[in-house]
Amino acid sequence: MQTTSKNGCVADSGARRVVIAGGGYAGTTLAVNLGRAIKPGDDIEIMLIEPNPCQQALSELDLVAVGPPRPEFCELWHPTVFKNLPVTVCYNRVDRVDPERRLVTVGPRGEAGQEVPYWRLVIATGAIAFVPPVEGLLEHAGTMWSVEDAQDLQRRIEAAFRRAAMIADRDERRHVLSFTVIGGGATGIEIVGTLGQMLPSRAADAGLDPADMTVRLVEGRSQILYDLPEPQRAKAVRRLERMGVELVLGSMVSRVDATTVYLADGREIDATVLVFCGGAKPDPDAIGWGLEADNGGRLVVDETCRSKQYPDIYIVGDVASFRDPKMNRTLPMLAQFAITESQHCAGSILKEARGQTPDPFVPHMHGEFVSVGPRWGVGWMFGMNVSGIPAIIMKRLTYVLYWWQVGGISLAWKRLREMLAMAR
Ligand SMILES: Cc1cc2nc3c(=O)[nH]c(=O)nc-3n(C[C@H](O)[C@H](O)[C@H](O)COP(=O)(O)OP(=O)(O)OC[C@H]3O[C@@H](n4cnc5c(N)ncnc54)[C@H](O)[C@@H]3O)c2cc1C
Repeated sequence: MQTTSKNGCVADSGARRVVIAGGGYAGTTLAVNLGRAIKPGDDIEIMLIEPNPCQQALSELDLVAVGPPRPEFCELWHPTVFKNLPVTVCYNRVDRVDPERRLVTVGPRGEAGQEVPYWRLVIATGAIAFVPPVEGLLEHAGTMWSVEDAQDLQRRIEAAFRRAAMIADRDERRHVLSFTVIGGGATGIEIVGTLGQMLPSRAADAGLDPADMTVRLVEGRSQILYDLPEPQRAKAVRRLERMGVELVLGSMVSRVDATTVYLADGREIDATVLVFCGGAKPDPDAIGWGLEADNGGRLVVDETCRSKQYPDIYIVGDVASFRDPKMNRTLPMLAQFAITESQHCAGSILKEARGQTPDPFVPHMHGEFVSVGPRWGVGWMFGMNVSGIPAIIMKRLTYVLYWWQVGGISLAWKRLREMLAMAR
């Protein structure tokens, strides 16, 4: 028998309750897979706890930030996904976990909240943007880790265009139209590439001269996209340069103010609109939940994606520290691992419900793609380098495939049409 509280959380039940904390790539995939697979005899009840009614698909944020302002392109409404599945969604947050008592407390930070007992807990609370303690960075730079961040960049681009349109002096106008991205990893390159490709025509539409605009990338290392093979990095550099993006490499940022980025080697870079894409850190709340964490704050799991101390807790996605024995490294924070770990985890929970033992998770990385502007990309697949239109098609296809997996063919078709319209 279930009792439902004021805020919609189910407080008690006779069934085996699987509580999933976080409804991003990992949590949503898990809830959908488990919801589709369970049979009445499994006696499993699924509760997803997620504060946001929409899943935010971060991998296409650059289009929402610079292209047509349509956040829905990156969002998946949970009520739509779960309307025909046996999943209770509680639009709230997990505040605390008590692994000894098998309870999570749901509610605002630090408040008494509501205790929800679990049979299995899955922690999938992801990561947040990491901003290092560099003077002025937090105040003057935006980040790129949510639809709100993308909308904020849209607003700042608009504001810069409006200000520039009011300025008669050309040098001053050029200063206002300086767009700078810090961080030459995949997120930074995707944003700067989309700025480089799309901003000139947006500026022209606003009656401004695109020649007055500068788009720059600042990266502390001497190379960009250091995770990709060398020929792919070189191609990305050439593509950016052809778009007119200025690359400022090889020096760390030492200070930032409202209009300028100051580098350790003395260079000063105009940056009226500044975006920081220098990294991510795992959900900072999760580290307080009494589970072992690695040096970076990700929660350590065994080969079955379970906590080593508490095997009734699974941890998946960006917040999990899974050591890949084949590559001898911790898996990177990528949606592809969040998705495959959760698919595996859904199977493991079912196995446990049916009296079997979960198998080890075996990660496979079949490829990686980075967009450099909305219509071009670089990456690799099955050991082969791929660039240009084939690479961007592969990146977009994996995105559409995700929607197909969680929302079926109609959602995938909708996203495909939207994507073609967005990238135009
Ligand atoms: C700009 C950008 C581009 C990217 N591009 C790619 C790409 O091309 N390919 C790729 O593979 N990866 C890409 N990634 C990485 C990818 O988005 C992440 O690896 C992926 O989102 C991880 O999924 P997750 O479910 O672990 O976390 P998320 O998708 O971040 O979801 C975590 C969820 O947990 C919720 N949550 C947080 N705290 C709590 C709490 N206390 N209680 C309940 N819920 C909570 C959050 O609201 C959120 O919905 C990109 C990331 C960014 C930022």
